Amino acid sequence: MTKKTTAPARAKKTTAAAHKAEAAKAAASGQPARTMTGAQIRRSFLEYFASQGHTIVPSASLVPAGDKSLLFTNSGMVQFKDVFLGQDTRPYTRVADSQKCMRVAGKHNDLEDVGRDNIHHTFFEMLGNWSFGDYYKREAITWAWQLLTERWGLPKASLWATCFEDEKGIIPRDDEAAEIWRTQPGFDVSHLLFFGRKDNFWEMAELGPCGPDSELHIDRGPGYCDKQGVPGHVCRVNGDCARFVELWNLVFIQYNRTGPTAADLQPLPKKHVDTGMGLDRVVSVIQDVDSNYKTDLFTPILDAIQKLAGQTAEERESNFTPYRVIADHGRGAAFLIADGVMPGNTGRNYVCRMIIRRAARFGAKLGFNEPFLARVAESVIENYGADYPELVRSRETILRTLTQEEQRFQRTVDVGIANLNALLSDLAEHGESMLSGEEAFNLYATYGLPLEITRDVADERGLKVDVAGFDLARETHAEASRTEINAGGAEDVALYRGILQDLQAKGLLGPDAVEYDPYNELEFEEPLLAIVRDGQRVTSARTGDKVEVIFPRTSFYVASGGQVTDTGAIAAFRPNSDEPLWEIQVSEVRRPAAGIIIHLGEVTRGTPREGDVALGAVDADRRWDIMRNHTATHLLQSELRYVLGDHVRQAGSLVAPDRLRFDFTHQGMLTQEQLDKVSRSVNDAVLANYPLHIEYMERQAAIDAGATALFGEKYGATVRTVRIGEPEPFSFELCGGTHVVETADIGPFVIVSEEAAAAGVRRIEAVTGRGALDLIHGRLSVLDNVATYLKANPAEVDRRVLTLLDEHQSDQKEIARLRRELAQHELDALLHTVTDVLGVPVLAGAIQNVDADTLRQMTDWFRARVPSGVVVLGSVFENRPHFVASLTDDLVARGLDAGRLIKAVAKVVGGGGGGKPTLAQAGGKDPSRLAEALAQVRPAVESALAAK
Ligand SMILES: [Zn+2]
Ligand SMILES: [Zn+2]
Repeated sequence: MTKKTTAPARAKKTTAAAHKAEAAKAAASGQPARTMTGAQIRRSFLEYFASQGHTIVPSASLVPAGDKSLLFTNSGMVQFKDVFLGQDTRPYTRVADSQKCMRVAGKHNDLEDVGRDNIHHTFFEMLGNWSFGDYYKREAITWAWQLLTERWGLPKASLWATCFEDEKGIIPRDDEAAEIWRTQPGFDVSHLLFFGRKDNFWEMAELGPCGPDSELHIDRGPGYCDKQGVPGHVCRVNGDCARFVELWNLVFIQYNRTGPTAADLQPLPKKHVDTGMGLDRVVSVIQDVDSNYKTDLFTPILDAIQKLAGQTAEERESNFTPYRVIADHGRGAAFLIADGVMPGNTGRNYVCRMIIRRAARFGAKLGFNEPFLARVAESVIENYGADYPELVRSRETILRTLTQEEQRFQRTVDVGIANLNALLSDLAEHGESMLSGEEAFNLYATYGLPLEITRDVADERGLKVDVAGFDLARETHAEASRTEINAGGAEDVALYRGILQDLQAKGLLGPDAVEYDPYNELEFEEPLLAIVRDGQRVTSARTGDKVEVIFPRTSFYVASGGQVTDTGAIAAFRPNSDEPLWEIQVSEVRRPAAGIIIHLGEVTRGTPREGDVALGAVDADRRWDIMRNHTATHLLQSELRYVLGDHVRQAGSLVAPDRLRFDFTHQGMLTQEQLDKVSRSVNDAVLANYPLHIEYMERQAAIDAGATALFGEKYGATVRTVRIGEPEPFSFELCGGTHVVETADIGPFVIVSEEAAAAGVRRIEAVTGRGALDLIHGRLSVLDNVATYLKANPAEVDRRVLTLLDEHQSDQKEIARLRRELAQHELDALLHTVTDVLGVPVLAGAIQNVDADTLRQMTDWFRARVPSGVVVLGSVFENRPHFVASLTDDLVARGLDAGRLIKAVAKVVGGGGGGKPTLAQAGGKDPSRLAEALAQVRPAVESALAAK
């Protein structure tokens, strides 16, 4: 067994001092810090908030962790949503970051705008700072003002602030924020405006946390107004023109909404701050350019495209939409792939495919006829890699995936677009203007033309596409891959938080709430603290009730990181007796709110009551199966990287008792040799019996030491690490799952299948321990049975089967030869039944049990024997009737047509067919009417001849 280590990838250190000096200089001179680069502005934001006591966290993945309601992370607060909802906590109360975001549809963005204007993007970065019950309006406003005016040197006289005033007069006006703005040094008090609910009140959903917000806008001067002369345009803040630009939104979460009226707005005990500032936009303001695409976040990418296209500055300017679409989509696709989102047919994967293909099509307009997006992505990686090291780590995957997707698209795009153009021309000719959704979907299903491209092409010809119809068609065709419904709404959270507060007030639960330890013991003995039935707290329950029960601690594992929930039983006993008073079968364990863990199950016996002391026991056999599979998953990942290379990255995982499933990034099917090698290495690691080392570490220290962090997973400041192998670990992962003690506990490991999960993602399923033994024993007994049937030794079964197959094949040939001979005899016999119809010899007859090929051959024999004539033969083969009609060439001139003839015949058996005038064939449904069908031949021939 080879020991391996992974060197941690480190981001380049920034020269913070250099740009601080720059900003100080700018501030001193009162001029905007125009020479700051986009990267410097991003870092300067984070450093400013670090200096105000904020923890700086890395951007969360574009794939929201554990939030199935959301396609992509679309704002900075997504990764903190559970804190605002009270479902979880963080080890810090002040935090700031630069968050990767993606928006492709919906109220905030329309894809059609991307590339056609200065401000819309698919991918963008959101700078944000948060307070979780820590500082509030005064600090948030003061710091925003300081950063913009003093650090970044934006002119104070150009800044405007907006606060909330309810147009319905129900929610109080935010005078608190307004007063703080008025006291900022240099703030022009006439620049303070109030707006209503649409602009200045923030709600996450109909119920739950909400509050007023306050926005900072900048006046870029009358020259920036792009709506001069537009009737009805008022040039002002929120006037929807390019002169007044919203820079920063500060949200003050101060209420919890429990219903639709003012009385349902309850002040939160802990108030929060949530802010967001689009990086591209603020950089365009600081660098004083009139488009996000003219900032240095984009110019290197656009320069790279220009160089590739070999165009002049004038050509670039006259093609600005293709340039911008390619730059925007290329940037978005690179970030998506780095976060494990591969091109595919549904959900996020579809978005990835769609933006790559859309960029490729715009590339064709610039004359690219070879894959080119990898070159564009290289400049994205160069431009962003220092601050987003995942781009550098996934470099090879990004470049290869882009090129392959472009190649895949190129194979079909020309035919697809030609077909689309034909459809559109047809529409135009008929004076219609809308392509149906079904047709648009067929173009996608057949030629891989995403709806967005179909729409682009239709748009260029002034036509429309039925988008709703497309969605309907796609839904109808979609394989059942429905997103799961998020468990636990706002009401549930309120219920459990109420229970938590009550239990803590009564001293039944400590400040740390329910103690969670699935790692050490599989049993616990504790008093039953609370029972919930039908969404309500009750003091007791009866046999047959479905309940949720809470104890001060638990050994049951809550599903996370791919590992499924534990099941088991909870029971109370009579003193000195083994007979349970009551019993609950636990089917699932969940964490519906921070600090609360519930056991869901059914009362199978007795009457559980609050306060009863009970024994909880995890189903130990099942748990051991799960632990074997979890540890084996770690070994499998490490061996896949060893055998296939470091590009292998986890893209999904399921750890269940009966099997493990592991999805990972890799191009192409694994060879049998690679699979054997992986399987052998995992089994070697099992036999080497390495102990597992579990250690809690600082997150950054663990990552620096080379631990693998799982894609899409959320981690706190302290992480649990699982290390296998010593002294150099060959598997070292951040993982909250449960594991065996040493690798020999896993038992045998067998790979069951290897297949594609999505483009560029492979999926392996495997079994371990009892599951593997069952599989091996099952297969061995099948083999033994086969050997017995064959009267062979099990070791010789494969050769015996090959011999049998050989024999079978030559038997088949012999049977076919005999059938033909028989058919020839049958035809000879039938020739005696030829009758004359208006001077034409006609044969119509049924043959026993032959296929269409033999029937056709028989009609050939007929024509070889008869100089002029008509033959129609029918047969029932595999329980379906079918026919062949044939006639000699001279009869075509006399008005006979084999195609028409066969249609008349096949109609009788509920079928149809066709062919040439001299040869046609048909099938049908009803075998019982074969003779009746053949009886149609003579009258049909007669009427055709008579008609001539
Ligand atoms: Zn204007
Ligand atoms: Zn794990």
